[in-house]
Amino acid sequence: MLSFLENSVDNHIHCCPHINKRSTDIFEVVEHAENNKMYAIGLMDNFSNTSGYASLIKKHFPDLNLKIFGGLIMEPPAGGVSYENAKISLGYSYFENDGAKFISFPTHHTRHIAIQEQRNLNYIQDCFYVPNEGPTYETSKILELIAKKNIVLNTGHLSPEETIILVKAAKSLGVEKILVPSNNFTKTTIEKLKIFNVYFEFSYFFVSKATEVPLTHVDDERHKIRGIKLKTLKDLIKTADPKNVILSSDCGVSILPKPHLGFYEFIKQVHELGFTMKEIDYMIKTNSKKLFRI
Ligand SMILES: [Zn+2]
Repeated sequence: MLSFLENSVDNHIHCCPHINKRSTDIFEVVEHAENNKMYAIGLMDNFSNTSGYASLIKKHFPDLNLKIFGGLIMEPPAGGVSYENAKISLGYSYFENDGAKFISFPTHHTRHIAIQEQRNLNYIQDCFYVPNEGPTYETSKILELIAKKNIVLNTGHLSPEETIILVKAAKSLGVEKILVPSNNFTKTTIEKLKIFNVYFEFSYFFVSKATEVPLTHVDDERHKIRGIKLKTLKDLIKTADPKNVILSSDCGVSILPKPHLGFYEFIKQVHELGFTMKEIDYMIKTNSKKLFRI
């Protein structure tokens, strides 16, 4: 058993069916997590709401100690940024009150990422963005729904400016639990977001070799994801404060280790950066359990 993993939570695993090759599948990930005594895992998928997969596992393996949860990334193949889509995800399960535990704004179909990927103008215009004057009516309705259900708002891959506008609006509409993927943010952005009491997520993917290879993520086009150096990661975690940080693997792609091994490697690397076990516990146990209410 890998010591760091006991009682830990990896909220970000891409082991669901995909358009490119995976290193594993949902059943194997569950087996590895259970064998390593992990507390919980979260499934993420750019193509569908994962709460259905999570409920299937729970129904068929009622004796699992491991908790498993899913949610919705509002990418176009998963129904897009729509109130109806978000609402349906909340009840998508074999069980009562067991749908999406998080709702995420798009990860790849955002204007911010599309511009970075040098997509064509029509593609960019169709992508989600947050206007300077604040979220649209549809986005605000989704935020109200997240607030009402008290589930997690994941801000997706927006620009720093858009993320701040979205978080501000979410807070004013009563959203309490917010997770901000922060791998590509600067210390200044993190400082600005800190006043809103959000959690900052950092993932193994962004310090791994997967950032050196152009990969297909949501369609046929291959793109590199901008990685970060471990030294930068250290600075960002320190700025955010480990009490507000969540570490995840973001593994599942075939070129990275299987998710439990990627997560273990990441925890080890962060530990070697000088963070204490007490701080690590916040980042891999306490915060995720609190945020996802698992
Ligand atoms: Zn991901």
